[in-house]
Amino acid sequence: MTTNEEQARVREIYDRIVEAAEKGHWDQTALSYYIGQPFKALIAAMLSAQTREEHTIAATQALFALADNPADMLKLSDAQILRTIGRVNYAPAKATYLRDICQKLVERGGEVPHTVDELTELKGVGWKVAVLTLAIGYGRTEDITVDVHVLRIGIRLGLIPVETKKPPKANDILKTVLPRDLWPHWNGLMVRFGRAICAPTYPKCKICPVNDLCPKIGVERPVK
Ligand code: SF4
Repeated sequence: MTTNEEQARVREIYDRIVEAAEKGHWDQTALSYYIGQPFKALIAAMLSAQTREEHTIAATQALFALADNPADMLKLSDAQILRTIGRVNYAPAKATYLRDICQKLVERGGEVPHTVDELTELKGVGWKVAVLTLAIGYGRTEDITVDVHVLRIGIRLGLIPVETKKPPKANDILKTVLPRDLWPHWNGLMVRFGRAICAPTYPKCKICPVNDLCPKIGVERPVK
């Protein structure tokens, strides 16, 4: 398949999934509530790691109702923070990260860093959280946020080689096959698609809008 043909296939996949999301009223992602809000995007991205979207949404909305900037967040007690984010996975560790991140942000005048390198110096912030923060908070689109959904679905669709494990590597590969204008939207759409159709264990291939475009690489137990 030529590069042009592959990009046409990817665009068709994207368009069909967008249409299915609109028709099916698929749930929004937790991060979609914080577009253009770097501090909230950073905290939501950090809390969302290995956590169900609905728990991240509930935790972030409750947390930001108490404090919506680093200085005010530092005034909350540990017990308040832990009680508020208690349903996210690894809440005790994330509560510690949260306080540390807010302290560092206050020291730099409250501004969230603008680069992956600076962001990943913060505790609890890895490459994925950093890229997601830049994309959601600042509208930066140099990279594609790769999480478990983007990786799993990318492999099944034949966009990423099966042996790819590291998000930065998957990002490099995806950037060669996804049309540029789709980069900022890919992560959010794949999160929603992964929850609604292309689930980790039992993907619903029979009702999938891109069934005829998908080689289903590594899929062993599609739902009939
Ligand atoms: S056909 Fe199956 S494996 Fe392929 S994207 Fe759809 S649900 Fe996922």
